[in-house]
Amino acid sequence: MDGRLRRTGRALRRGPRCRPPGAGRVSFPFVVSVHDVAPATADEAAGWVADLDARGVPATLLVIPGPYAGGPALPDDAELVAFLHRAEHRGHELSLHGFRHAGRPGGPAWRRAVNLAVARGAGEFWSLTEPQARSLLRAGLDVLADADIGVVGFTPPGWLASPGARRALAGLGFRYWTSQLAVHDLSRGRSGRMPALSHRPGGAGEQAGARLMVGATRAFTRTRTPFRIALHPADLARPGLRSAALAAIDHALAAGGRPVTYEALVTRWAARGAGPTP
Ligand SMILES: [Zn+2]
Repeated sequence: MDGRLRRTGRALRRGPRCRPPGAGRVSFPFVVSVHDVAPATADEAAGWVADLDARGVPATLLVIPGPYAGGPALPDDAELVAFLHRAEHRGHELSLHGFRHAGRPGGPAWRRAVNLAVARGAGEFWSLTEPQARSLLRAGLDVLADADIGVVGFTPPGWLASPGARRALAGLGFRYWTSQLAVHDLSRGRSGRMPALSHRPGGAGEQAGARLMVGATRAFTRTRTPFRIALHPADLARPGLRSAALAAIDHALAAGGRPVTYEALVTRWAARGAGPTP
């Protein structure tokens, strides 16, 4: 395993209000991730983490290590670095989320089209060869190491990773990566289907999407289906999106859902030694 990767296994201390009323029923895991954590979005990240702490929900914080959205690289923001260390200490997981979270020119035409349509231009790892991806991943790990942060997982911007990027992740010793529909366990070469719900702030379907997040959460909890909720900084600028996301999380908790980080999820899969099932 790459020396800059490390594992942690702390559990977030859960407050009394967080004991799920549905604890007697068959439990199922769900993962909450906070996307695009960087100096430029530090306030939004802190807002989401406070909401999650209040519910005793350990989350995976997806950190962009390089300069992003006009802000500096992560190590230049000592306040955010200290915040992330404290969050990790409380049981949240820190994970790598691209390098600059920016699209890159090149690749076949169909990959360029998907990058624009699906990742809104942020498919940074969508058209990279294995050597290109390896070098960008190493650069990200180096920047995180400068902030004394080690990670075991990766979520590509836009949830898009090229085959070369996937091979580079495995070669560097990452334990998992995530796509929009699944969590991919690199240690065992297996994937667990686990759809991710996220808002589309500012889009034409914004309010319908907000209702969908709550509706889909109800459907998943009814069938005890593992799923994920992705929180983005831009959600907080739009009316109703924060409350819809929190309503979905509260519903999952009340229905007996077990909030886990990605790292805890793949650790549990490995301990069971079976397929990546709940
Ligand atoms: Zn992102």
